[in-house]
Amino acid sequence: MSGFRCRSCGGGRVPLILSLGKTPLANALLRPDELGSTEASYPLDLVFCEDCTLVQITETVPPARLFSDYAYFSSFSDTMLRHAEALVTRVVSTRGLDEQSLAAEVASNDGYLLQYYRAAGVPVLGVEPAANIAKVAEERGIRTVVDFFGEALAGSLKAAGDAADVIHANNVMAHVPDLPGFARGFAALLKQDGVAIVEVPYVKDLIDHREFDTIYHEHLSYFSLTALAHLFTRCGLALQDVERLGIHGGSLRVTVGLAGRGGPSPAVAALLEEERNWGVTKLAFYAGFADAVAELRTSLVSLLADLRRQGKRVAAYGAAAKGSTLLNYFGIGRDVLEYVVDRSPHKQGRLMPGVHLPIAPPARLLEDRPDFVLLLTWNFADEILEQQADFRRGGGRFIIPVPEVRVV
Ligand code: ZN
Repeated sequence: MSGFRCRSCGGGRVPLILSLGKTPLANALLRPDELGSTEASYPLDLVFCEDCTLVQITETVPPARLFSDYAYFSSFSDTMLRHAEALVTRVVSTRGLDEQSLAAEVASNDGYLLQYYRAAGVPVLGVEPAANIAKVAEERGIRTVVDFFGEALAGSLKAAGDAADVIHANNVMAHVPDLPGFARGFAALLKQDGVAIVEVPYVKDLIDHREFDTIYHEHLSYFSLTALAHLFTRCGLALQDVERLGIHGGSLRVTVGLAGRGGPSPAVAALLEEERNWGVTKLAFYAGFADAVAELRTSLVSLLADLRRQGKRVAAYGAAAKGSTLLNYFGIGRDVLEYVVDRSPHKQGRLMPGVHLPIAPPARLLEDRPDFVLLLTWNFADEILEQQADFRRGGGRFIIPVPEVRVV
């Protein structure tokens, strides 16, 4: 892509992997009174950096637009809460944290993770750019700074006496425009033997499982361990450990510390080696992705068209960003789906961007009994299918669209 420079290394050799065209912002749910006005849309092009291997989109939508009406509270997902609690329990015990320690989280949301440190008696510090969400955290007793994290903020927190034993960054690095500034922020805020624990969706799973719908304007970067190693090494940090996780369609949990403070675990060397063998570090690995996504589109669109021809009624579940990407890129709108249900009261009564499907509470499925429900939030499939046991016992069926179309 001409003129674009890699967000991690600044390199200019960035060939295109997949173009999703111009799409509206995936989290910009509309109020009914906004239906007449024009929706902003932006190009969504995925590229590969041949210098540092980072996969990324080229458009950077100003953060003020993305965060102005941010409707996502992670506490609404039981799966994420259990995941956070298990991680905190392990970190507190393996690192021996106590009332003298400090646990920080970047993009701390409503305190969904830090609440478990607080319950264990460990002082906490959240950094959260959305003021309305930070307020909820403060009300729960989670000290929260309303700001974007980076080198400057980390430096001023450190100067004011905060030094972190652990910094969590769960599903936030993908959203960061200035990656080196963010990584140097870890280096600035950590104690000498502190660690940052970063979770990011894994680009290997994105490609293997055709998770194209996790590509949207808020997600600027799609990481491999190799790409993270390039970034952290340039910013005074070193990889200490890595785990592959099943959450969010496949993620990496990477532990980094200051350079020279503890060598990498065998898992780090093993995964870097595997990535070389898989070819994740070369453009060729990404070459078939666009065709794989086109295949998925054909199979889902034709299934839905068949169901409509048979007179079946179809709704959707999950007014999340990935649902917006899928519906808009595949062109699935009100002619095929009747509405979308979502558990978040902040989303109910609004409309999906672009396709303008209305959003209703999940109870609507039991009242209304559509024949099929397209599961847009397939990353929470187990949890949602269990919650919808009554609907399914009554004959309702779910369509899972990714990595291949399945009816359950
Ligand atoms: Zn690069």
